[in-house]
Amino acid sequence: MSDPAALARADIRALAPYVPARAAARATRLNANEAPWRNPADEGEAALNRYPPARPLALAESLAAHYGVAAGRVCATRGSSEAIDALVRCYCRAGVDDIVVCPPTFGMYAVYAGVQQAGVRTVPLIAARDFALDVDGILEAWDETAKLVFVCSPNNPTGGSVDGAELARLCGALEGRGLVVVDGAYYEFSTADDYMALLDRHSNLVVLRTLSKALGLAGIRCGALVADPRVVELVMRILPPYSLPTPTLEAAAAGLGPVALTALQSRLAALRAERERIAGALAELPAVERVWPSEANFLLVRFADAGAALASAADAGLLLRDFSGTPGLEGCLRITVGAPADNDRLLAALAPATVSA
Ligand SMILES: *Cc1c(COP(=O)(O)O)cnc(C)c1O
Repeated sequence: MSDPAALARADIRALAPYVPARAAARATRLNANEAPWRNPADEGEAALNRYPPARPLALAESLAAHYGVAAGRVCATRGSSEAIDALVRCYCRAGVDDIVVCPPTFGMYAVYAGVQQAGVRTVPLIAARDFALDVDGILEAWDETAKLVFVCSPNNPTGGSVDGAELARLCGALEGRGLVVVDGAYYEFSTADDYMALLDRHSNLVVLRTLSKALGLAGIRCGALVADPRVVELVMRILPPYSLPTPTLEAAAAGLGPVALTALQSRLAALRAERERIAGALAELPAVERVWPSEANFLLVRFADAGAALASAADAGLLLRDFSGTPGLEGCLRITVGAPADNDRLLAALAPATVSA
């Protein structure tokens, strides 16, 4: 297997990483210009006058244990958003290199490409096959200035997962030519493979995960890039030191602990059941034309009149995401599965008014 870091920008590969001030247990740090006292309002467990670790290696180890991979395969990031940004910056020369995206999909890949002045090639998902990945189309679109393809699985906003054999085929075909980035932000809601086992066979596979969705920790901004250790080392070069705040490290450690994870299992099961309940109920409504199967915590729904459905939901105090202006998603709204009472409110709001005699 070839070195997946060899495809990265030569200037990033040559960059001398910043050397942060040393920290050692039991030694007093007079080397980092920190305050010697705590802020009077800082009453939490860990003193916030001290910098967090320059590299959050303990968190990376917890994440690696959670995902069942070797610690050297994980880079902890500020949400998976930061991992997307870092990959684009590491691999794409401004004005020269491109990423490939498969719309309709998460909009942030193209945003970060724009920030880096990388081009965006689009290979749409196959609408007639429930938005399946067009592997042959991606391979046709590839050349030496294509560096990364983002595969969102389960895909936001269409809800389906990529087929494992197709993903392996894509990785194999792009071996030595590009990275395949699987964004698994919604993995925990699915019954699909997590594709971590493929990492041993495909050095050009990168899997992104986050604590923002199923773990219920969007507020702490914590994600993970899981990849070949050479990609991890490369990405860590460009991330700022001390970037994961102490409160985030504490909350992530607790959230990845056995007590929290055990309690989450039943919540996840309940959320999946709730997703199927409202998918069925929505499909029965006269206003609804189609509900796509979902492996995530949302449903993509096509309405005869999306504007009217949005307005009815808004009248009930519920916000839905409007995708009706997205090519291929005419009439479509994305509905997050909420608490059962919220979902009931939504179903009532979208049901035709019953006319009393
Ligand atoms: C929500 C979401 C993320 C998560 O981003 P974070 O920065 O980890 O909060 C990543 N990818 C997709 C497709 C998402 O929908």
